[in-house]
Amino acid sequence: MSETGKVYLVGAGPGDPGLITVRGQRCIEQADLVLYDGLVNPLLLRHASGCVERTARTSRPGSDRVPQSEVNERMIAAARHGMTVVRLKGGDPFVFGRGGEEAAALTAAGIPFEVVPGITAATAAAVYAGISLTHREHASAVALVTGHEDPTKDESRIDYAVLARFPGTLVFYMGLHHVESITQKLMAAGMPPETPAAVVCRTTLPEQQLVTAPLRDISQAASDAQLQPPSLIVVGPTVAQRDSASWFERRPLHGVSIGLTRSEDQLDGVIERVLELGGDPVAMPLIQIQPPEDWAPVDAVLERISDFDWIVFTSANGVHSFLARLGATGGDARRFASARLAVIGPATAEALAEFHLWADLMPSVFRAEDLAEAMAPQVEGRKVLWVRASRGRDVLPDRLTAAGAVLEQIVAYQNVDAEALSPDVVQRIQTGRLDWIGLSSPSIARSLAQLLSATETRLGGVRLAAISPVTEAAAIECGLPIAAVAETYTWDGLLAAIAGPARTVPSHRPGG
Ligand code: SAH
Repeated sequence: MSETGKVYLVGAGPGDPGLITVRGQRCIEQADLVLYDGLVNPLLLRHASGCVERTARTSRPGSDRVPQSEVNERMIAAARHGMTVVRLKGGDPFVFGRGGEEAAALTAAGIPFEVVPGITAATAAAVYAGISLTHREHASAVALVTGHEDPTKDESRIDYAVLARFPGTLVFYMGLHHVESITQKLMAAGMPPETPAAVVCRTTLPEQQLVTAPLRDISQAASDAQLQPPSLIVVGPTVAQRDSASWFERRPLHGVSIGLTRSEDQLDGVIERVLELGGDPVAMPLIQIQPPEDWAPVDAVLERISDFDWIVFTSANGVHSFLARLGATGGDARRFASARLAVIGPATAEALAEFHLWADLMPSVFRAEDLAEAMAPQVEGRKVLWVRASRGRDVLPDRLTAAGAVLEQIVAYQNVDAEALSPDVVQRIQTGRLDWIGLSSPSIARSLAQLLSATETRLGGVRLAAISPVTEAAAIECGLPIAAVAETYTWDGLLAAIAGPARTVPSHRPGG
């Protein structure tokens, strides 16, 4: 039999994938098997290299769950087969997470395990709602209370008389369906009806919702707002101080869902950026990057790269593909020693910098026209190589040739249109759960128009933002209305245009 593996009980944090611990993330990356519960954000599993299995279909208690005994058996069996298993649980494993029971089962079975704490929903919700759980003057203790227990039943294990006199903040987990009876019990036990209270729903996620009201009205306020689980109820004087501490709703893209159309391999950075600005990123790559059909012409150019006076890159994809091929065929960056390097914009410059090549020229406006104009005075009689995609506009070759350059073009990668919109994206569009789609090139705009008409999907309330006037023109030409155009022709610029003039998007330092 193989050597016994190990189980890590890992807290996934409250929802935002950025709120897992570094150690927790490393465990996921290295696990052979991840068993995750219904509260875990699936985005966390993007970094898993082993198998992933969900143990509950929804986050609602009691719904479609794999029974606890089965989860325990699965963990134990996998570990006995020598696997490294991560049992990933929302929030902290030991706060209403049954982590203690799982640890006991592992101990009984003689399976080695470790526990990695997570940020529990109470601390996250408090921080994201601007509520300080403790306060020097107003709250000297915090209680985490289960609200799942039906407080009307006779043998409640919760002593509401004690809670009503508690000198601080009460946080009820799993209590959304019992807000009314919880508040009644607290008031019956003597808590003043005007005690400030809040219900925080889906905390740390772009859809976070919050209602506040005095204890006597909070149940009605939560039902008026149609709050859904998972939600927490927070009761105590510091709830009243929240205005001075709130920050979450003030982020530039708070609650705005944005379809990101870039190719899959370029999405990570934009997803992170949208999350950072408070938005809800929806991956919908409309284009795929593939290697060229034939590497032979690229290899031939790479052999005589020192012939060129200028090498021009107009996308990060071009840089990655061309330089990866150089490395794969035994070359290195010294081949570029004699050439000057021109790029269209900061993302392309950043890609070159990964190979320790600094661009010599970048236009102040990031588009082909301006790149050609910036290069024109320097290229007469010079040999210029344009590293390009299989598709693209003719502006650059036309203008450089007109300026007297001896131009060669090499296709370093292909753009291939996505074949369909994913069912999830179509459903979001149809049910009004997508606010924007960002279009980052003319071909992406055309691809969207085509996919929408192929599936007879109407845009409804979805607005479109274009990365540049060129992309805007392409979109309009195929019948797509554009609601915002970036001033700076980058994804950052696009997101700033979506946030609108009233909201400043702090600029993102390339490479930062
Ligand atoms: N172990 C988890 C709690 C699991 S019990 C933790 O430490 O956070 C499930 C309850 O947690 C839910 O009913 C809800 O009350 C709370 N909860 C979990 N995630 C939440 C979220 N994102 N927003 C609000 N409440 C949440």
